Amino acid sequence: MDTDVLIVGAGPTGLMLANQLVLRGVRAVIIDRHAGPSLQTRALGVQARTLEIYAQLGIVERALALGKRGTGANIWAQGRRMARVPLGEAGQAVTPYPFILILGQDDNERIMGDKLRELGLSVQWNTELVGLAQQPDGVTATLKHPDGTSRNIRAGWVAGCDGARSAVRELSGIAFPGAPYEHVFFVADVGATGSMVADEVNVYLWRKGFHLLFPMRGRDHWRIVGILPPSLRGRDDATFEAVIPSLRTEAGAGLSFQACSWFSTYRIHHRAAARFRDRRCFLLGDAAHIHSPVGAQGMNTGLQDAYNLAWKLALVVQGRAAPALLDSYEDERIPIARRLLNTTDRAFRLIVSDSRLAGLFRTKVIARIAAFGLSRPRLQRLGFRGVSQTAIHYRKSPLSKSLDGPPAAAPRAGDRFPWLRLKFRPDGAIEDSFQQLDDTRFQLLLFGQLSPPAGALDPGDLLRLHVIPADPVNDAELARAQIPQPSFYLLRPDGHVGLCGARLEIAAIEHYLSERLHLRE
Ligand SMILES: Cc1cc2nc3c(=O)[nH]c(=O)nc-3n(C[C@H](O)[C@H](O)[C@H](O)COP(=O)(O)OP(=O)(O)OC[C@H]3O[C@@H](n4cnc5c(N)ncnc54)[C@H](O)[C@@H]3O)c2cc1C
Repeated sequence: MDTDVLIVGAGPTGLMLANQLVLRGVRAVIIDRHAGPSLQTRALGVQARTLEIYAQLGIVERALALGKRGTGANIWAQGRRMARVPLGEAGQAVTPYPFILILGQDDNERIMGDKLRELGLSVQWNTELVGLAQQPDGVTATLKHPDGTSRNIRAGWVAGCDGARSAVRELSGIAFPGAPYEHVFFVADVGATGSMVADEVNVYLWRKGFHLLFPMRGRDHWRIVGILPPSLRGRDDATFEAVIPSLRTEAGAGLSFQACSWFSTYRIHHRAAARFRDRRCFLLGDAAHIHSPVGAQGMNTGLQDAYNLAWKLALVVQGRAAPALLDSYEDERIPIARRLLNTTDRAFRLIVSDSRLAGLFRTKVIARIAAFGLSRPRLQRLGFRGVSQTAIHYRKSPLSKSLDGPPAAAPRAGDRFPWLRLKFRPDGAIEDSFQQLDDTRFQLLLFGQLSPPAGALDPGDLLRLHVIPADPVNDAELARAQIPQPSFYLLRPDGHVGLCGARLEIAAIEHYLSERLHLRE
């Protein structure tokens, strides 16, 4: 075998997977058909859940230093600011990163690529996957180079992170049902001044469409996304100058533009692969699902696909878990992709529909509902949890088991375990739970109960035990997060709860590890 895992595609999804696998000691090869990293910004919004993963990987500080924190979103209609969503307040109890980080995809790729090199792996550029043949114990991949030469490589597993036109998906015969939207979109990076609230996302709704303005690094630097005006549709020569009149009409006559550094038009599809796996080949990121840019979810979802698969693949490659564990990748990630497709599709159709009724709805009703709903802290929190991807859960996964039916509001099996500030040692300082938890292992957290007797649980190097001491600070924090006492939570390496219950039962833990996770002794 030449490598344990062949990663096809060095976009954000492939780079995240490569980092996670190498960090876990897996031999991986990562290839890309392009000559080098992409220079296009493309995705811009980095969600809180992604930043939490970046923190575990040790790259969050660099991302924060390079990006711009969008702490609010403003909705405009008919020249008036109708609503403001204060992301900072809505998310401050949820995550250490209560904002959307505006950081271009090219910067995200550079940061992950640098980290990967630091861990000892580089992307093999100019290398295109053109053939796949699966055997019971591995996959033979045929790789082609620009000079026309080709070679075969044998890998235990193949990860298709190769984007919307995925060769892995096509060579595996996996269908990609869906359709393109009829509208053509434009994207422009410009220097601009106008009514926009600085450093915040600005959404301008109008009768015939919308304009989204994202603040970019530097002063008066904006990314504008919108629908191409009807008069420009079907033309290949559309320019930014040609869309300025519609922008001025809808987003304010006072808009003035200094320079446009990037302008592009594109059509969007909504599609999800029928399966995310064919035996030893997996699909992740845009290879598995593509949807409208509403909510800035695309890149973030691909990164989470990689985070979900990496720890499972590492355990299987290292012989510590049976391959049956890998079935849970598709079980967990297909429902997320389908839900995302449905919600972004519905929202998208509403904001792009050409009908007069939809136009009125957009400018009168949506704006008012938004103004009303988004002024309610509870709805703000719900909205933040959804968009930030911190609410994603795997409650229906075969890997999720809640014993003793926890109270309805308590975190349960499948949830991302909440962010807490706790004293991990009696008389110790208050610490950030996410900094205490190590995503290369399982974590067993005990609340309101004593440590099991020495030797009762043999955690080995895969499991870390945290017995949270009784303390008024801890009691208050656990009450806030609705975590009952006594309780125990067994967290998977990706921070989701695998098993939970009231009093710790060693036999239940052992049974869970062997029967649900298929871990080997
Ligand atoms: C204009 C635009 C704006 C967008 N805005 C947003 C946004 O605001 N927020 C958001 O979350 N998402 C946004 N997206 C979507 C986002 O860019 C994608 O979701 C993201 O790029 C997916 O990453 P990926 O790594 O899965 O795929 P990609 O980024 O497409 O990477 C796939 C890689 O695979 C390589 N490859 C392909 N075939 C082969 C092969 N046969 N052999 C070897 N290598 C191969 C390609 O060269 C490429 O580098 C936007 C997309 C576009 C086009």
